[in-house]
Amino acid sequence: MGVIKVALPPDDKNLFQMAYGYFVTISSGMFKTWSIFWKQITKQEKSNTLEWPEQPATYSDRFKGKHFLTKREDGQIRCTACFLCATACPAQCIHIEAGEHPTNEIEKFPVRFEIDILRCVFCGFCEEACPVDAIRLGPEYVMAGGAGEKWVYTKDYLADRSELNGGIVSVKVENTKHYTVDTDLHGDNLLATDAPHMHH
Ligand code: SF4
Ligand code: SF4
Repeated sequence: MGVIKVALPPDDKNLFQMAYGYFVTISSGMFKTWSIFWKQITKQEKSNTLEWPEQPATYSDRFKGKHFLTKREDGQIRCTACFLCATACPAQCIHIEAGEHPTNEIEKFPVRFEIDILRCVFCGFCEEACPVDAIRLGPEYVMAGGAGEKWVYTKDYLADRSELNGGIVSVKVENTKHYTVDTDLHGDNLLATDAPHMHH
């Protein structure tokens, strides 16, 4: 096997120039750091550091935080176990088990609805995909926890955790079902704001 010769980088003989460059760069960086430190400690400049949790963070209305499952007006879960959210989820972290609903008006409901939150990327595709406003990403952002924590959000947690104060009722009217081409084109019962992307 032949020997491959590689060219070595040229020796930098000018040690003084190297050291000078090093100190100039470090000093200018440290000057910047100390001047910001000084301005903030003497309150000449506002610090962007948040004293969390005493000082809560504020996010825009469009912030996508912890998921929740909405309810019907009678308190039942809104989800019809159609699997559209689970299909749209790029992280494949939604697991649904559908069951037959005891009443005739509703076809299916989720017996099990779980989100593996450590895999979730908070893209919001699930709420976009849901045709009945059954899943939404809310404003809650505190999701810290330890190793022993359960990182799978169950159906009960998604619909009834204490932060939701008894659950969130969906904005959709009760009898609005999944859209079809027919109801989309001719139905008068759909609210204009319900599915703007589906109106032609
Ligand atoms: S926010 Fe995105 S990644 Fe998370 S569950 Fe919904 S679709 Fe999946
Ligand atoms: S898309 Fe909506 S209705 Fe369908 S399974 Fe998901 S949350 Fe339930």
